[in-house]
Amino acid sequence: MDMERHDFQLKDLIEKIQSNDHRLVALQVPEGLKMQALEMMDAIESETSAKIVLAADPCYGACDLVHDKMKLMGVELVAHMGHSQMNIDSGMPTQFINVTYDGDPELTPVLPLLEQHRAMAQQRLQQQSKQVSLSDEEAQERFMDAVGRLAPLTDTKLGLVGSIQHLHLLPDFVERLEKVGYDVTIPIGGARLSFPGQVLGCNYSGDDASIGHYLFLGSGDFHPIGLVLHTGKPLAMLDPYTGDAEEMSLERIERILRQRFGLIMSCQEAHSFGILIGEKPGQMRRTLALRMKKLLEQYGKKGYLLALEHIGPDLIDFYPVDAFVNTACPRIAIDDAVRYRKPLITPFELEVALGEKQWEHGYQFDEIP
Ligand code: SF4
Repeated sequence: MDMERHDFQLKDLIEKIQSNDHRLVALQVPEGLKMQALEMMDAIESETSAKIVLAADPCYGACDLVHDKMKLMGVELVAHMGHSQMNIDSGMPTQFINVTYDGDPELTPVLPLLEQHRAMAQQRLQQQSKQVSLSDEEAQERFMDAVGRLAPLTDTKLGLVGSIQHLHLLPDFVERLEKVGYDVTIPIGGARLSFPGQVLGCNYSGDDASIGHYLFLGSGDFHPIGLVLHTGKPLAMLDPYTGDAEEMSLERIERILRQRFGLIMSCQEAHSFGILIGEKPGQMRRTLALRMKKLLEQYGKKGYLLALEHIGPDLIDFYPVDAFVNTACPRIAIDDAVRYRKPLITPFELEVALGEKQWEHGYQFDEIP
């Protein structure tokens, strides 16, 4: 990653520190930018009279804001870099700092993929049939089918989304895509998202029935996996760092769905569950965790509530329960399942295992609204 090409927008932060005469400020930086953290601390300290303390624990999102514990240290302001504000209150005054990347990839490499995906969406729109009742086996097949489980489409628009440091490219990409004949929309999501076209690993709420396929501007497969799991729609990726284009393979999504199916089956006979509650401000789903405990009780099973800031195999595997239900970051159950000795499932998956939700409605991604 070429760090020189990132724009860390520190000016507003420096002005805020100067005008409020803050003395101790915590800087929180995502993992990918930590190498630059000391440089940023120098830059802020040289322009202000504040001392900067780096919140050096791992940070993967704005769900993970520095909260009250830093108050004990005397921190007056938290500067959170590279993520946008969510609908949460961490209990600390927090300034969000934008980071943008100036890479502007060519559209050409991704066009063949977009053409294929538009054809898939058009075919699906034409073939949409009314719901017929399914046998158990057909319903389980549908559950594992990456693209056969969609809510009906009303159109085949191209949904243009990106990760936060590339969102400034979207308006220009709309123009370029329209010039080559695409009907493009930038989805606008719910309160957890700050910007049009933004996606998070746990929230794709901008999706709607008029979108038939997606183009994602960003790198890595974290957001694309979640978006395709959530929507079942084909997705092409264009990486502003490298200029490379590829697609999220539907076979890969189906492999994940088969794995989820296996975990659900293995929880059907489980009697005792650890219910994980995240302590991070934007991952804390207490009501959901309590609902899961009540649901387990209704089925004569036992649920133990376990609250954790960080979740990992070493921290939970030893509890004498048969399985775990995760209500913290949804991606822990989905992306890290193989690291755990015992089944780790989402709340929706528990509902399917208990028979509360039916296979035939297809897989439901665990979204935090
Ligand atoms: S995917 Fe997980 S880490 Fe990322 S914002 Fe959502 S809850 Fe936080």
